[in-house]
Amino acid sequence: MTSTLITNIAELVTNDPEADDLLGAISDAALVVEGARVAWVGRAADAPATDERLDVGGRAVLPGFVDSHSHLVFAGDRAQEFAARMGGKSYAAGGIRTTVAATRAATDEQLTAHVARLVQEMRRQGTTTVEIKSGYGLTTKDEARSLAVARQFTEETTFLGAHVVPADTDPAAYVELVTGAMLEAAAPYAKWIDVFCERGAFDDDQARTILAAGRQHGLRPRLHANQLGPGPGVRLAAELGLTAVDHCTFLEHADVVALRDSGTIATLLPGVEFSTRQPYPDARALLDAGVGVAIASDCNPGSSFTSSLPLCVALAVREMGMTPAEAVHAATAMGARALGRDDIGALMPGKRADLMVLDAPSHVHLAYRPGVPLVQSVWLGGRPQM
Ligand SMILES: [Zn+2]
Repeated sequence: MTSTLITNIAELVTNDPEADDLLGAISDAALVVEGARVAWVGRAADAPATDERLDVGGRAVLPGFVDSHSHLVFAGDRAQEFAARMGGKSYAAGGIRTTVAATRAATDEQLTAHVARLVQEMRRQGTTTVEIKSGYGLTTKDEARSLAVARQFTEETTFLGAHVVPADTDPAAYVELVTGAMLEAAAPYAKWIDVFCERGAFDDDQARTILAAGRQHGLRPRLHANQLGPGPGVRLAAELGLTAVDHCTFLEHADVVALRDSGTIATLLPGVEFSTRQPYPDARALLDAGVGVAIASDCNPGSSFTSSLPLCVALAVREMGMTPAEAVHAATAMGARALGRDDIGALMPGKRADLMVLDAPSHVHLAYRPGVPLVQSVWLGGRPQM
């Protein structure tokens, strides 16, 4: 197995949980990649001998971003809806149906090509792992093929048949379909099951039923909750002991306490608040209460059509009260935890060598230089991609 030394790293973010600082940062550092894994990290002066050597010229090296929440399988866009919203119209869950019609009309090849383009866009911005949901098919056939498309790009696939009740469909009959034939067809391609638990989508009783059915098919449950207003979703997530609950924009004190007590990670999606002009979730209050916080893009054509975790990090710092270190940690180590993964999100011996080299000397620049393309190169499983 070839070993490669990456050296002259001004700042290496390891996310070592045993370190004194949150990011386990090492200055004047080096890292050894062996095959697909990290074999060694430390001060450059102490580096072992290797077959090959790469000098990154005083740049920062970070774990690749882990984007634990995206909806990449769709067709069409909703630029007009965005323009209307910026002109004063409000966002409602029903806009999803526009994308459903376009997605059903697209071929498998069109959907696959579109996901490939978006995944490539993410890679260029430092994302090395992405979760992808279905949810724009909403028929048994279209949900199953959406997940089959997503599976070509990631093992982190999520069945979201319970995104919205399709037009002209009885809600009770639809829940029966989602927990029956649709689940049966989707489960072979999915790791997770998710429900949009929100007024206008699914209530907490429906969410409970759907997640229980998913569990019986071996899927791991997660939830969209408290995005558009206060509601029971976050407390349900805590009660069920879910790994993560996503959005968490409108939280009451009892929600925060429930998350802290259950250890459920709050995955915040600031691209949504940016794109819908809603108030941002209070990350500071969650962190101060001892709740684990992750950040993801929620890349989707309706409420957050960005694939950029650097943008989300900058928003988390500027708008949600996080420090640059907390935001970077939330988009790497915590994203990995939100997906129940311990092989990614950190650069320590034994972890996958998924990393990014920044054209900057430290992680701070991701928030300090918003909108600037700072990702110089990305390595996936020990191999440079760009
Ligand atoms: Zn979402």
